Amino acid sequence: MFRIVCPRCGAVIYESYEERSLTLALRPFNYTCPHCGARLSPREARVRIIPA
Ligand SMILES: [Zn+2]
Repeated sequence: MFRIVCPRCGAVIYESYEERSLTLALRPFNYTCPHCGARLSPREARVRIIPA
């Protein structure tokens, strides 16, 4: 499981079974956390790869 977590509030922003580029995954959110509004640059966002 490919998961992107907000570094500020810890919310799971994106979750997929396929690994994607951070830029593509975050673009629909305008690079902003939908929960706390923190800016999510592809460099700073935390990614967790969870083995299925
Ligand atoms: Zn957040």
